Amino acid sequence: MASQEIEALSSALARLPGLGPRSARRAVLWLVKHREQALPALLEALAAVSETLVECQTCGNVDTSDPCGICTDPRRDARLLCVVEEVADVWALDRARLFAGRYHVLGGRLSALDGIGPEDLGIASLLARVEDGGVDEVVLAMNATLEGQTTAHYLAERLEAFPLRVTQLAHGLPVGGELDYLDDGTLAQALRARRPVG
Ligand SMILES: [Zn+2]
Repeated sequence: MASQEIEALSSALARLPGLGPRSARRAVLWLVKHREQALPALLEALAAVSETLVECQTCGNVDTSDPCGICTDPRRDARLLCVVEEVADVWALDRARLFAGRYHVLGGRLSALDGIGPEDLGIASLLARVEDGGVDEVVLAMNATLEGQTTAHYLAERLEAFPLRVTQLAHGLPVGGELDYLDDGTLAQALRARRPVG
C-alpha cells in the first residue's frame, strides 16, 4: 500500500489526458527515483505555469501574455487566419513554423452527440474578428474527423457573407486524423496544398 502522499500525486497525474492510473504510478515511481535531478525543475516549471499562463482574449491561445506572442508578432501576416479546434493544434502548426499567419482557437468542435453547438465555441469571436476587416484568407484547419469536418462546413457557410477566401487543409490527412498527432511533413503538405472550400 503506497503512502497517502504518493496516492495523492498518482491520482492527480492520472487525471492528465493520455496518462491513466497505471502510467501515473509509473511516473510517480520515476519521480521518486529521480527526485534530486527531476523534481526541482518540475516544481519550478509547474509554479511558473500556474502563475503566468493566461488565455489570449484575441485568439484563444494559451501563453504568458494577453494578447499572446503570436497575436503581437509583427512578422506574422495578419491577413491570414487559421482556425483550429484546440490550443494543441496551434502548437502543432507552430512547432515547425508551418504557418505564417495568425490563429483562432474554437475550443472544440460541433458535436450533436455531446450537445456542443456553435454558441459553445469561439465562433462569435471569430466572426467578430473577420468583421473587423484586414483578413484576406481564413484557413479552416479542423481535424479530419466527422465532427471536425461538420464544423468546417458550418464555418464555411457562416463566412460566406464576408469578402475573403475560405480554404481548408488538403485531403491526404488520414481520416480520423488529429492535427496534433501528425508529423510536420504531413502537416506542411496539407497546408501547402490547401484548397478553397465548397
Ligand atoms: Zn493570441
